[in-house]
Amino acid sequence: MVIIMLGAPASGKGSVAEILSNEFKIPAISSGDIFRKYISNGSEIGKKANEYMTKGELVPDDLTVELITSRLEEDDVKDGLILDGFPRTVNQAKVLDEMLEKKNKKIDIVVNLETPEDEILERITNRRICSNSECKAIYNTVLHPSKVEGICDKCGSKTYQRDDDKLEKAKNRLEVYYRETAPVADYYKKTGVLYSTVLSKSVNRMKDEVAKDVIDYLKK
Ligand code: ADP
Ligand code: ZN
Repeated sequence: MVIIMLGAPASGKGSVAEILSNEFKIPAISSGDIFRKYISNGSEIGKKANEYMTKGELVPDDLTVELITSRLEEDDVKDGLILDGFPRTVNQAKVLDEMLEKKNKKIDIVVNLETPEDEILERITNRRICSNSECKAIYNTVLHPSKVEGICDKCGSKTYQRDDDKLEKAKNRLEVYYRETAPVADYYKKTGVLYSTVLSKSVNRMKDEVAKDVIDYLKK
């Protein structure tokens, strides 16, 4: 099974991906997490990616594709995978089609999370993440705060705000999203695998409801 998560930054892609990953027992692969791992290792690749990430811009396609390609060579994806944060450009989507074809895999569903823009900015700036790289639990200071402020419920490590989640950078990332990533949904619409769905507190439809609908859809 191949599942692609699309949606604006902090739209809930990672949270929905985690539920789907547990349900279908397939790994959720976050391109942002891959970059952050290279950055924390202090590698040259990480330094290069970080130049773009700190500005809220996209990492160039060639580097991104290289890292995703090597991740998809690993053993754990043979029964399926969830991609969270890749593809983010139409070019990346085309490259992914080629990669999957070589592996005799096809995309089962592209889950496109639709969240109102004002809510997105709020979600980005209120997002906090567990600093433990084995845990990476995601919190929101308003929607679902950790029980003790600044401390992860699951593992007790400190939570932190990503630098690119601060307001000015968040605004830039949203612009990039509308310009570069929103057209990826149109690309998948043409191939008939697009499943667009609202995730918004304004209609009280959050990650659990969305994930349940996706699971029901895939089990049909
Ligand atoms: P979010 O889902 O909140 O936007 P991510 O962790 O997915 O955060 O991405 C963080 C940053 O990593 C992006 O702003 C971008 O700089 C870089 N990035 C992640 N995925 C890609 C991608 N597929 N192509 C280019 N850059 C990417
Ligand atoms: Zn934790």
